[in-house]
Amino acid sequence: IVDEGPVKSWHKSVCRYCGTGCGVMLGMNKDKLVRVRGDQEAHNKGVICIKGSMLDKVMKSPERLKTPKIKKNGKFVEASWDEAMSLMTKKFKEAMAESGPTSVGFYGSGQLLIEESYTANKLFKAGLGSNNVDGNPRLCMASAAVGYTQTFGKDEPPGAYVDIDHAETFFLIGSNAYECHPPLWERIMLRKKADKNVKIIVVDPRKTKTAEHADIYVPVLPGKDMLLINSMCCVIAELDLMDMDFVQKHVNFNDGKNKMSLEEYKEFLKDYRPEKVADELGITPRLIREVAYQFAASKATMSLWTMGINQRVQGVFLNNTLNSLHLITGQICRPGATPLSLTGQSNACGGVRDTGSLAHLLPNGRLIAKEQHRREMEKLWKVPEGTIAPKPGRHALAMFDGMVTGDVKAALIMCTNPAQSLPNNRYYREGMEKAFLVVSEIFADTETAKYADILLPAALYIEKEGVYGQTERRYQLIEKLREPVGEARSDFDILVDFANRMGKGDLISYKTSAECWDEYRTISKASKYNFYGITRERLKKERGIQWPCPTVDHPGTVRRYIPGDPFVPQGKDVYFYGKPDGKAVVFARPYKAGKEDVSAERPLFLTTGRVISQWHTGTMTFRVPELKHSAGPGRFVFHPQDAGLHDLKKGDKIEVDSSRGKMQGIVDVSEHETPGVVFAAFYDAKFMVNNVVSDDHDPISKEPDYKVTAISVRKLS
Ligand code: SF4
Repeated sequence: IVDEGPVKSWHKSVCRYCGTGCGVMLGMNKDKLVRVRGDQEAHNKGVICIKGSMLDKVMKSPERLKTPKIKKNGKFVEASWDEAMSLMTKKFKEAMAESGPTSVGFYGSGQLLIEESYTANKLFKAGLGSNNVDGNPRLCMASAAVGYTQTFGKDEPPGAYVDIDHAETFFLIGSNAYECHPPLWERIMLRKKADKNVKIIVVDPRKTKTAEHADIYVPVLPGKDMLLINSMCCVIAELDLMDMDFVQKHVNFNDGKNKMSLEEYKEFLKDYRPEKVADELGITPRLIREVAYQFAASKATMSLWTMGINQRVQGVFLNNTLNSLHLITGQICRPGATPLSLTGQSNACGGVRDTGSLAHLLPNGRLIAKEQHRREMEKLWKVPEGTIAPKPGRHALAMFDGMVTGDVKAALIMCTNPAQSLPNNRYYREGMEKAFLVVSEIFADTETAKYADILLPAALYIEKEGVYGQTERRYQLIEKLREPVGEARSDFDILVDFANRMGKGDLISYKTSAECWDEYRTISKASKYNFYGITRERLKKERGIQWPCPTVDHPGTVRRYIPGDPFVPQGKDVYFYGKPDGKAVVFARPYKAGKEDVSAERPLFLTTGRVISQWHTGTMTFRVPELKHSAGPGRFVFHPQDAGLHDLKKGDKIEVDSSRGKMQGIVDVSEHETPGVVFAAFYDAKFMVNNVVSDDHDPISKEPDYKVTAISVRKLS
């Protein structure tokens, strides 16, 4: 890993990639990052994955963008910061003068620091009058966020990673933790080694490496798992496996509009008896019963899920129903018994969900559509009443659709690569071509950077300072350990500069990331997302702190809704304080088939995902030779049976056709795939699988369904 001399000093930090949020120790030789290892004192106990271990290699890349560039006659030419920022300001002002504030937007990222997302959100919503603030977390965890909010009244999970050490049953659904959250998977394996009663259930259409290690593997067909979860609830109800004491004290039932009785809920479940749904799921009724029994009867069951559940047209309903499984069985609010949605990106929870940097949100769980919430934020931000527009802005797909239609004329894109990551990609790239785009990037050759009118060189990782919030509500500090390359600036500095140029210097009055953090943690005091006690000084010393944490001497909250959580009233053993009566909601959510289904015309399902060595669109990891070699080029992976049926072998060239268009690609064949399902990862820009992925999305969370696209294939050579 190292080749730049010995370590002169070690510094605790956080991996900048995924939502596991691993603590790392960074070995520096003056301003060079020369060694990376896991932090033994952090929650991950020293374990990191191959991507984190090569963080230094990205920092060393010679391809970094070092100066601002402005596109002139289709070509980028170098510019000064003043030229670039002046032009950006002029274009935003022109758009707003001609077409109003909703003609501009901000598209951010779950990899921006909290201070950066918070500043962008405040500037656009309270400064420029545009609620068009969204970002890539819309593509990965919007459904989990809405699911938690609807069920418990508050976003973010009740449990934590430490529950892995106490669970007896792990229910992994739509999660390939082996590849996507390796340190958590290793922790699960250690737990299994320590206790022979531990069982792992994996539900996935693909026989992933995670599924290979399952005690019970449930190979449901793509798009059908809502049937499975409802059927499990049905079995639990019919076998009297509900925890009636917990249910009576802590749960309300709801049909989506009105309260319902337990008996009505049980009646709803009868449509999902195993015998009725097993064929459609592609499994046996007996397997459904076995899984339901194991889930309910286990001493402590922990569910872990990620994009296989979130990126779905029924993503919110799936999240609701998973939470319901825990509520009806009382598998919650105890050590090892909890639902825990795993986060894709390093700071999607803290930076985007908690700061409210999505088109319908305001900080700390507030909603734009609620007048009371707007008034609260206007007071906290010290802006006149009525400043924040009452209509939610454009969510991710709507933002880029607005560029296609000409309604969004200018946008700032930071720390993300939508020209590769959006589904139905060709369509949304049309919008990027039309709008005036300012792109803050670390490399000039990303797919999105190609569409920029202005390219701003961004600081990377330890070239700047700020806070990340990972999956389990833990805030951790990344300290600045070296200066940015060339003329690069932090996204925070870019946003503060832009605010000043737009005449909003009074609103964005803080000058440093630390001052911004102090403002934000002070604001949080007015909510039940309170982390006022998480000061910069504490973050420098401690290995992250989990909110709520209302005072500087509070240790943080590992598990919510039970004693120890500062918002649980005295004398209550469990209290879901996001709901007026302290009771969580079990929703009766019906299964509805998505539009993307197989047919004679398109007989295969395409599903997309990640591989262990690559991070999202590969902007960073596909540049590291070892990681690139490990992943190889992007390709379509078939089960041998499908390969045989279509007369395909590894290396063949094919054309894939979906409702969104056609593309060419190379065939791979693997036993890990399921007959009828073709897998493709999206890290390779030369293999733009998102060109054919459907942009159908959940009607509530607006999260696209990257997991279920019907395709046909044609052999070319
Ligand atoms: Fe940990 Fe994720 Fe970084 Fe790997 S990529 S070291 S799992 S935070």
